[in-house]
Amino acid sequence: MAKQTKAQELVAKFMAGLIRRNPGEAEFHQAVQEVADSVMPFILEHPPYAKAKVLERLTEPDRAIIFRVSWQDDKGEVHVERGYRVQFSNTIGPYKGGLRFHPTVTLSVMKFLGFEQIFKNSLTTLPMGGAKGGSNFDPKGKSDNEVMRFCQSFMTELHKHIGKDMDVPAGDIGVGGREIGFLFGHYKRLQNEFTGAITGKGLTFGGSHIRTEATGYGCVYFVHEMLKTRKADVKGKKVVVSGSGNVAQYAAEKVLQMGGKVLAMSDSGGFVYDKSGINEEKLEYIKELKNVKRGRLESYARKFKGAKFHKGQRPWGVPCDIALPCATQNEISGEEAQTLIKNGVIAVAEGANMPTTLEGVHAFHDAKVLFAPGKAANAGGVAVSGLEQSQNSLRLMWSREEVDMRLQQIMKEIHTQCARYGARDGYIHYVDGANIAGFKKVADAMIAYGVV
Ligand code: NDP
Repeated sequence: MAKQTKAQELVAKFMAGLIRRNPGEAEFHQAVQEVADSVMPFILEHPPYAKAKVLERLTEPDRAIIFRVSWQDDKGEVHVERGYRVQFSNTIGPYKGGLRFHPTVTLSVMKFLGFEQIFKNSLTTLPMGGAKGGSNFDPKGKSDNEVMRFCQSFMTELHKHIGKDMDVPAGDIGVGGREIGFLFGHYKRLQNEFTGAITGKGLTFGGSHIRTEATGYGCVYFVHEMLKTRKADVKGKKVVVSGSGNVAQYAAEKVLQMGGKVLAMSDSGGFVYDKSGINEEKLEYIKELKNVKRGRLESYARKFKGAKFHKGQRPWGVPCDIALPCATQNEISGEEAQTLIKNGVIAVAEGANMPTTLEGVHAFHDAKVLFAPGKAANAGGVAVSGLEQSQNSLRLMWSREEVDMRLQQIMKEIHTQCARYGARDGYIHYVDGANIAGFKKVADAMIAYGVV
């Protein structure tokens, strides 16, 4: 108990300093708070980490690059956006992390995502450091040509800071196959070389099988491992998924393959509830709608009888056994977590990054719900990105079955690591487990390097 109080005191002091040095960066503060709460007791038990000021060093990015991105729309009008690449830590491998194009992108969002990426990448067992980048540019409503011009302008600056052994970006919100094609095409032209400096590439130009599916599939593989600890499985379970983008689509697909029933999905306009279940055929409609037509989910309810669209709302009021938040940060509040618990949720796995507020996380823990944080549950995406880098370096391509098998093994291993560091009193605290396991590997490497 005394150790717990000492840890809390140290976290409070540490956070006060961090907030002073990074004013107004609420998302970054939230992400660091969660990690500090988990690792401080561990640091207290292992004085070399405290002496080497590992946590202080890990919360200061190696560097944050901010740049102007000017581009012209189809009418010739000039627009100016801001580009970012936060290279947080290359302690255990080249920087690695996605690019997000969304109007809500700020330095704070980039720092929270880059910081989380350090621990997630460490958990994957692959040699990858942590980074994140992107822009406040909104691809929604833009023509393909406009998106291409933006991507080329963005890459004109970014290419100076990335490379296969230096920093390897990938996709994230607003950056899918189309954007990666434009970005990599321009990178290749500027560098005059074909190297795996970006992942998420198309299968005909250096991409890996299963990369598109990896985050969503991996999330459900992780749920499978969690349920196994309670002698349960996905079959027959009612599942609610938020989002309808890359992660959500493939999380839903894997749930269906494992015999679960998907009752709801969402986008930024609201959620659709289909009590007869979003089956394979309906999911294909959503994929086409989102990936090709770039339309709104609202049209689902017009297309399929019995489905209802709830405008401007999130789906957490729909009773379910499994909740998979796969849209964006802070989309499950404390109150929404309580609603899910009241309705009997067994497992929650974060397909998105930090979709649950700290209040929500505490509520799930207090109710002993199986709760997987994003750094564990959505690590499948970056893991297969790492496998794409390996294939690029080897100049060969593994089969779909081989990559899927490796993904399943990695998700299983992440679960094992979480259980090793997070199990206590018959409950696996996956947040602590993921944070401590991710931290330990990076911290040990930092100590080996001396003070850098
Ligand atoms: P996409 O852009 O493909 O899809 C995002 C989905 O979330 C869309 O349905 C979008 O709705 C919805 N959404 C975005 N912002 C908001 C918001 N502010 N409020 C409500 N809904 C919103 O992104 P991804 O699927 O790639 O990413 C989703 C999450 O998963 C992110 O947190 C990302 O960081 C995380 N992640 C992604 C990985 C990947 O491999 N892609 C890897 C690991 C984590 P709309 O269509 O209306 O915009």
